[in-house]
Amino acid sequence: MEINALYIDELEKLVEKYGYEPYRSKQIYNFFHKQNRNDIENSNLPKDLKEKLKAEDIKTVDILEEYNSKIDETKKLLYILDDKNIIEGSLMKYKYGYSLCLSTQVGCRMGCVFCASTKAGLVRNLTPYEILGQVYSVENKYKINISNIILMGSGEPLDNYDNLLRFLKLIHSEEGKNLSYRNITISTCGLVDKIYKFAHEKLPITLALSLHSTYDEKRDLIMPINKKYKIKDAIEACRYYSEMTGTRLTVEYTLIEGENDGQNNAEELVNILKGLKVHVNLIPLNPIEEYKRQRPNRRSIVSFRKKLESKGLNVTIRRELGADINASCGQLRRNYKGG
Ligand code: SF4
Repeated sequence: MEINALYIDELEKLVEKYGYEPYRSKQIYNFFHKQNRNDIENSNLPKDLKEKLKAEDIKTVDILEEYNSKIDETKKLLYILDDKNIIEGSLMKYKYGYSLCLSTQVGCRMGCVFCASTKAGLVRNLTPYEILGQVYSVENKYKINISNIILMGSGEPLDNYDNLLRFLKLIHSEEGKNLSYRNITISTCGLVDKIYKFAHEKLPITLALSLHSTYDEKRDLIMPINKKYKIKDAIEACRYYSEMTGTRLTVEYTLIEGENDGQNNAEELVNILKGLKVHVNLIPLNPIEEYKRQRPNRRSIVSFRKKLESKGLNVTIRRELGADINASCGQLRRNYKGG
């Protein structure tokens, strides 16, 4: 494990092993997680300790490219990791502050047909620091404070469970960034077993279920995970999660013309979500090279929303931030690497 993803008590053991006082661990933690730095040679630790720490694994995440929207202040970012793998994310500015969308894996093995991140499968899981370092590198470069985090970049967060959990604890720690769990959203395609497991952590983190279809036969075709966990099972797991954590579920529903945008789909969605504390986020499809379906026209999108609202659901249509810089997540990285 990289030392810039160790908890304070773990760092304490490390410094003790090197013959130093336990208080050094707080100094090191502060350097990594308050100052957002990893150039340990420039810290004010004793020279001998610096040398020892430098010989340990210290991960870095650097911004490789940025793409700026001309219509709003959204940035799409490419990051480079120590092993030269590339991941992507986006930085969005809202009235309440900055929100950063993070990746949790290089690639993804879930195989959703509309998603560019999965086309070459899973390359590897990100380590806890590689998730965290996306936040730190953005804060350092743009001199801003990230107030909200969405785990919706490449990768299925719950498929990288242990590293995800460590990341969450580190970013929430008082001695570090001290980000409230309430300002974090985790998007999942519906890994039912992991949702139940995560519910028992009892963290008030918003869960966003990528549903995208109301019928199992259709969802099977666009999201292979549905062959293992059916819609009903995913919804039940989310209901349990919501009750255990006291949070409201978000349902992500990508609107695909002629596929899932009919009034019958809207009605079915209302049925499926009955009795849940839920917010529905409608996302007009961003077509990718390998999935050339279209988004519905504006009128159909609005009438879909109205149907849901007429049945008492809370609905938003996702604001298209940075619509000019790129489409769906995963495309930038693939284009950069030549597909
Ligand atoms: S949508 Fe999410 S879970 Fe599905 S393939 Fe893409 S990154 Fe993986």
